[in-house]
Amino acid sequence: MIPYVGREEEDNLKKVIEGKWLTEGPFTEQFVAQLKKITKAEFVVPVSSGTVAIYLALKANGIGHGDEVIVPSMTFCATASAVAWTGAKPVFVDVDRFDLNITAYSILHAITDRTRAVLPVHLYGRSCNMKDILEVAGVSRIKVIEDAAQGLGVHCGKYHVGTMGDAGILSFFADKSVTTGEGGAVLTNNPSIYKEIRRMRNQGRDRSGAFLHESVGMNFRLTDLQAAVGVAQLKKLPEIIRKKKIHYARYKKKLKMQFLKTPRYSNFVPFRCNVFSDNREEIQASLENCGVQTRRLFYPLHLQPCFEHLKHDKELYASEGAYNKGMSLPVYPGLKNEEIDYICAIINKVGEE
Ligand SMILES: *Cc1c(COP(=O)(O)O)cnc(C)c1O
Repeated sequence: MIPYVGREEEDNLKKVIEGKWLTEGPFTEQFVAQLKKITKAEFVVPVSSGTVAIYLALKANGIGHGDEVIVPSMTFCATASAVAWTGAKPVFVDVDRFDLNITAYSILHAITDRTRAVLPVHLYGRSCNMKDILEVAGVSRIKVIEDAAQGLGVHCGKYHVGTMGDAGILSFFADKSVTTGEGGAVLTNNPSIYKEIRRMRNQGRDRSGAFLHESVGMNFRLTDLQAAVGVAQLKKLPEIIRKKKIHYARYKKKLKMQFLKTPRYSNFVPFRCNVFSDNREEIQASLENCGVQTRRLFYPLHLQPCFEHLKHDKELYASEGAYNKGMSLPVYPGLKNEEIDYICAIINKVGEE
């Protein structure tokens, strides 16, 4: 993964340095306006990371001690850590084996009297089935917080991911489609959730620079330096998406392996190129020998040492199977066709032996 940053980002950073206003300022405002335009979210709050964004979205929706929050097992650990930090208990459920997203079915089976929210993750560039999930959540009166950390540009029908539930989040970490180094945002259409999140991330006050604090808050703000990079990045988003799609298609054409599937209600913005094989270990070793770094998929959360105390004893077949057989091949805008061809040739050679 190499971030797609260059001249445009440098020029914007220079402007921030010359203007001497380093904390939230004109670039942050512009960044928020761009994100609103792309996602059509009513409100966007820039924050210091995607993890913090999840934490704030849960807190603002009243999630805390004694509550259960349903989380897919196949996701980055931060999705569940943010739940644990509110004092609530993450309850892990399995995902669909064709797209690795949480399903309304698995949510329905995990709901108890203590369930207060579900945290669907739009993984690897495809949307969850939000229509079904919102229906189950509505009937059961639980909140929906969408983790769209990997989902910039991904839509469910005509809605951008992160804008269909009570709140949603984006991440701008260095390996995401668009980056600010570290950074994130909360999306919501609810004015009181918006107000609460703005307060919490800015020392519990409604106005910066004032010393009147309506509640006890924290400092989870973004800087104008980061927003300056983000503004340049978002201008390149269509180009970034176009390039990633071309790379993904090239892998798909050259490799006879199992790929994930995109359901009808979702578009697809390749985040990684995930392939599955019974020979995963061998393939990864061959690539490593040729100097190509690959990653496995996420280690399922219900098996993580940090959540051992939750004593999760059910097998989650799709999550565990994806971990055992799956690997991520690089897809980033700067990747060259020859590099993809080289990677595919190594993989295909393992298949022949
Ligand atoms: C990256 C990521 C996060 C965390 O975002 P940070 O900005 O790194 O804190 C959360 N969930 C998922 C699915 C992610 O990919």
